[in-house]
Amino acid sequence: MKELPHGYTATIGLEVHAELHTNTKMFCECKNDPFAAQPNTHICPICTAQPGTLPMVNKQAIISVLRVGTASGADLADFTEVDRKNYFYPDIPKAYQISQLEHPLVSHGKLAGVDITRIHLEEDTATSSHQTDHSLVDFNRAGVPLMELVTEPVIHDADAAMAFAKELQLLLRTLKVSHANLEKGEMRIEANISVSKTETFGTKTEVKNLNSFKIVGAAIEYEIDRQINALENGEELIQETRGWDEQTQSTFSQRVKESSDDYRYFPDPDIPKFKLSELEGFSKEELIETLPELPWDKRDRYAKIGLTQEAIEFFLQEIELDELFAGMITELSDPQQIKLAVNYITSDIAGLIKNSQDGMLSNITSKEMIQMINMISENKLSSRGAKDLVTYMYTQGGGAQELAEKHDLLQSSNTDELRSVVEQILADNPDVVEKFKAGDAKLMQYFIGQGMKLTQGKANPQILSQLIKELL
Ligand SMILES: [Zn+2]
Repeated sequence: MKELPHGYTATIGLEVHAELHTNTKMFCECKNDPFAAQPNTHICPICTAQPGTLPMVNKQAIISVLRVGTASGADLADFTEVDRKNYFYPDIPKAYQISQLEHPLVSHGKLAGVDITRIHLEEDTATSSHQTDHSLVDFNRAGVPLMELVTEPVIHDADAAMAFAKELQLLLRTLKVSHANLEKGEMRIEANISVSKTETFGTKTEVKNLNSFKIVGAAIEYEIDRQINALENGEELIQETRGWDEQTQSTFSQRVKESSDDYRYFPDPDIPKFKLSELEGFSKEELIETLPELPWDKRDRYAKIGLTQEAIEFFLQEIELDELFAGMITELSDPQQIKLAVNYITSDIAGLIKNSQDGMLSNITSKEMIQMINMISENKLSSRGAKDLVTYMYTQGGGAQELAEKHDLLQSSNTDELRSVVEQILADNPDVVEKFKAGDAKLMQYFIGQGMKLTQGKANPQILSQLIKELL
């Protein structure tokens, strides 16, 4: 925890919304595609709230929330119901949002050391765009399933808040329940922040629209400083909602909360109450069974086979490259070979992806990468040659052996062939031979360098070295 001036402690709780990427919307069969290029193309009488329509519940959305709960060791609700949260806004066609108040799907989880209070299901709003004299509403996003996660106020600095948010994003992506891209609004973070010198919480402010991890950290740090300065200057803080101004790198007041909002919640009479244990596919055992390997388990597994912290976090983020790597370590067990695999993936292949227009990663298979690593181990391929081979594999596709032959990348370990090369070098450089014999051992590198030059880099340096010793 970061030490704050004047003996203050900061207390932070997070509220995170994540759009679930189900096939269809929460209560109708419209495609879940909030970023469709054409506005109002994925809409129907249900998600535009025409009179007389009835919602149908999306099972995949409920399962998604329960999976997040299961992965974070939380309690899953048995009985659950949804409520109407009433408020009028042009992008809420029903004039209420379907959410959950008393019976959230998930409660009491833990992630990155932070206690999770609850996770519930709700629906996203439409999107409005404001023109000079009118506003437009696009209902493609209306009714997209949204997960809301609330943490306990147990975070004390910006770094811990960012670490939690990053771990949550990683979990949502690992579970494939949300793309969780902050910049696109698929994951939205709000921070409740207060400072106090005593056990009693201070007046909190809620900072919204934090659309990158960096902004989450910057806004929390700014808000802690602002609150401490205000209190030290004898000012009274007010409970309010604040936004983040990227230009001035500061928070600003958006709305003062005089009393808590009255949403007149009540259970939605159109949607059945569920007893999940009585429904197929919702049991805890089934949910646990279908979980993929979770990030913290993968961290342990990769640490055990010698990966660095940096490499582990790389693979956790880069799902496709991790699949390539995972396919290799089923066959490779030698630590040196694993290290080579990590290096070629995290530096060479990642670099190729970064610098190419379209992804050609599917050209490279784990099997061919293993073949390449074996060729290096058997001295058939130099590290320089392997770099070229990776590029050919990525851009052209094909077998490692064939491509290495085709592009003349194989190292020569043919002793007879190399013997004549070495003989020539020694004959051409009598003065160097003299110095070497007189004890200048460094000159071995010179001979090897000459050997590489004469063979266009294809000689196996170890065999060259052996031959030089032998022939002198
Ligand atoms: Zn619809």
